[in-house]
Amino acid sequence: MLDYDLHCHSNVSDGTLAPAELVARAAGRGVKALALTDHDDVDGLDEARAAAVQHGMVFINGVEISVSWRSHTLHIVGLNIDPAYPPLAEGLRGVRSGRGARAQRMADELARIGIGGTLQGAYRYAENPNMIGRAHFARYLVEAGHCKDMKSVFSRYLATGKPGYVPHQWTSLEEAIGWIRGSGGVAVLAHPGRYMNGRKSMGSTTMRELLAEFVELGGQGIEVVSGSHTPEQYAEFARYAGEFGLLCSCGSDFHGPDESYRDLGRLPDFPAGCRPVWSLWEQDAALKVA
Ligand code: AMP
Ligand code: MN
Ligand code: MN
Ligand code: MN
Repeated sequence: MLDYDLHCHSNVSDGTLAPAELVARAAGRGVKALALTDHDDVDGLDEARAAAVQHGMVFINGVEISVSWRSHTLHIVGLNIDPAYPPLAEGLRGVRSGRGARAQRMADELARIGIGGTLQGAYRYAENPNMIGRAHFARYLVEAGHCKDMKSVFSRYLATGKPGYVPHQWTSLEEAIGWIRGSGGVAVLAHPGRYMNGRKSMGSTTMRELLAEFVELGGQGIEVVSGSHTPEQYAEFARYAGEFGLLCSCGSDFHGPDESYRDLGRLPDFPAGCRPVWSLWEQDAALKVA
């Protein structure tokens, strides 16, 4: 079992727990090293780090950046970033800035099919209004009785091509990786098994083109063990890691009790042959001590 969890969300983005509550839960579940990776925002890191110190836990500054690549929305996790690095901080502000108008359009689309009140409803769930997103809409649609759970909200209303889905231009792969690397961090391709072409996975040709470009631009890691992967996908993405010389990462992608596929921590081990992403910074730390 891995005692690292390098992907999770607080209510600074679309999780339901405050950063300190999230850290306390992780500590209680035996996590030894945690990265908070809120979408497009780093405001929870100070609170999470202070809580991690209280729990004697290693804390890693993280972020999950929304990227548009070809027709896909990709998520790039930055680990060990410096949140104060101006190009990163300003870049993230830019990524967040389109969310308000997008939310308005989503509400308009939902209203067209007879579902009203979603904008106000969604904002009630957004602790950080700058980060209004689909998960907040989903929580409201469940509350209002339109669907039994968030998963069905996405498949009926919010996934690509559904009536409440609004295409959006996020940042580029090049910028996201540039901000992360420039701040001293490691760029990791998040949950590669989630990128779809219609109802099918992205396919190996596109995945290889993506990974080649990702590496070329300075990307160094890939999530192998993820809350949204099956065990078959752990093996699949461990093979891609070997093929492209990528470090392997693991994270639950926890968003809140009762709503995530996986709770924090207790993630299964990597397949054989994976080099963990933390070997990068643990090696640095060892060199500094020596
Ligand atoms: P956004 O950044 O506003 O497009 O929202 C993306 C977020 O929606 C993801 O990070 C997940 O938290 C959530 N999400 C996406 N697809 C699903 C799904 N099928 N079921 C539950 N949550 C989802
Ligand atoms: Mn999310
Ligand atoms: Mn994601
Ligand atoms: Mn995530």
